[in-house]
Amino acid sequence: MPKFQGSIFDVDGVLVDSPHQKAWRESLRELMESDWRGIRDRTTWSPDAFTTLVYQQYVSGKPRASGARAALDYFHVPDADQRVAEYAQHKQEMVVRLIQAGDFTAYPDALRFVIATKDAGMLIADASSSKNAALFLRQIRLDTFAQEHGISSPTLRPGLTLLDYFDADVSGRDFAHGKPDPEIFLAAAHELGVEPRRAIVIEDASAGVQAAKAGGMAAIGVARADDAGLLAAAGADLVVTTLDDVDTTAMSEGRLARRQALCRVTMPSRRHWAADEAQSKDGRSAYGTITRGTGEWRARLTATEPTMR
Ligand SMILES: [Mg+2]
Repeated sequence: MPKFQGSIFDVDGVLVDSPHQKAWRESLRELMESDWRGIRDRTTWSPDAFTTLVYQQYVSGKPRASGARAALDYFHVPDADQRVAEYAQHKQEMVVRLIQAGDFTAYPDALRFVIATKDAGMLIADASSSKNAALFLRQIRLDTFAQEHGISSPTLRPGLTLLDYFDADVSGRDFAHGKPDPEIFLAAAHELGVEPRRAIVIEDASAGVQAAKAGGMAAIGVARADDAGLLAAAGADLVVTTLDDVDTTAMSEGRLARRQALCRVTMPSRRHWAADEAQSKDGRSAYGTITRGTGEWRARLTATEPTMR
């Protein structure tokens, strides 16, 4: 029996670059500049203080009310109990407006990974705390994406949306406990008919990685916001900056590992590599990030010692 039989995907930040962060940030700004003007000086909030790192560390991945509460507490907003509902409502109205305006994109590496995972025979589920997840997923056409990226797969068919592609959809349901409680992921595994220890969760938020581990599942952390350290500290079994770096062959053999880079460069040179290495935030992935150039030359590189021909 293969070790991994199911993959469970968070949505915001893993599959789509969604406007949640923008909506949390801008809706708090609007409140602080209007109805909440009177308490602004009693908080630590300022227009620039709601950074991506604050979002990733305190808000991302949580259900709406918990996310609102966490942000208000972070900025020491007084009477937070009485303000949570107003902030959450304001944010929700803004995010729906942004989604309907098409203010989001699907991550191509995530779509490639989802297709590869399904092609490997695994069952897949989406499991976002967000009530808006289906709004995104049904707008993403997998058949069009595959066509544009030269991907052929027996699991694709004309007209297929990402929402259709999932074997189970537990996003946006009301659970007694939000992430970092494992309840949503356990429900997803149950609906897939997969034991938790045979499931992999793909998450971009610390709270989500913690939820996966609390549920006895493997976790891949996707560090899209320069927050690899946070995800590793939360217990992720593998942290990558792009899902293209996950070795899907190893995964189907029951191991979570980074792909050994099969790179294409036009003019291989030490200088070329050194430039990429210097840009890399994570030395271990330095050689996995070289993607520029055209396909005139190929070399198999290792993470620690690149070989050149
Ligand atoms: Mg997320």
